[in-house]
Amino acid sequence: MTGFLRSVILFSVFVIAGSAAGSVSAQDDVFAARRQEMVETQIKERGITDERVLEAMAKVERHLFVAEELRQKAYKDTPLPIGYGQTISQPYIVAYMTEAARLGPDDTVLEIGTGCGYQAAVLAEIVKEVYTIEILKPLASSAGANLKRLGYDNIDVRCGDGYKGWPGDISFDAIIVTAAPPEVPEKLVDQLKIGGRMVVPVGAFFQELYLIVRTKDGVEKKALLPVVFVPMVRGGE
Ligand code: SAH
Repeated sequence: MTGFLRSVILFSVFVIAGSAAGSVSAQDDVFAARRQEMVETQIKERGITDERVLEAMAKVERHLFVAEELRQKAYKDTPLPIGYGQTISQPYIVAYMTEAARLGPDDTVLEIGTGCGYQAAVLAEIVKEVYTIEILKPLASSAGANLKRLGYDNIDVRCGDGYKGWPGDISFDAIIVTAAPPEVPEKLVDQLKIGGRMVVPVGAFFQELYLIVRTKDGVEKKALLPVVFVPMVRGGE
């Protein structure tokens, strides 16, 4: 190969590589702008004020938690399918539940229903440690791999039935349940610390989101709003 030809080939390779990198970052900018707009119009305007929640929602790249063909819809005001008949929750409901749990930076949080791992990532931006359980094996493993790829080292994903809580002797500052059981699972109440908060959708056809606070004498229960979540199923490992 002549020196000239080699230079032309090398030059072309650099130009192509450069424009590919350029288009990726341009697309990232578009997603970042949409994410900011999502926070302004879907979340702040509906009354979410916790700065840590707003920052986490602005930071976590929701488009990286859905299939490639759904990425352009990732910042819309809606849940989206993630396969296996399950969904990634609507951004507003993720923000609402996260705020309702009144989280602090030293908290340890349990999530029931990992799905694609989006809510877990939002929690991990705010608290110290996140434990999350998913009953469907393929979702648990793809969420675990995705969260690892994105650099989250404070999220522990496991496959199992979250109705039974996290195995072992452990208690949590907060529990966020993202699939609806017919009644509040007793085991989850047991795993709340005194003063711990649980945000949980309860019901079958009609569901209500509850905030449950464990006190030293029992629990306080407050209905927050009507919601639609996938049902909590039982079984698994
Ligand atoms: N948290 C997700 C939403 C997931 S949808 C998000 O960030 O968008 C609810 C998930 O709960 C589904 O993936 C479903 O498979 C799971 N699920 C249902 N019953 C469960 C159970 N008993 N234990 C653990 N996960 C359960």
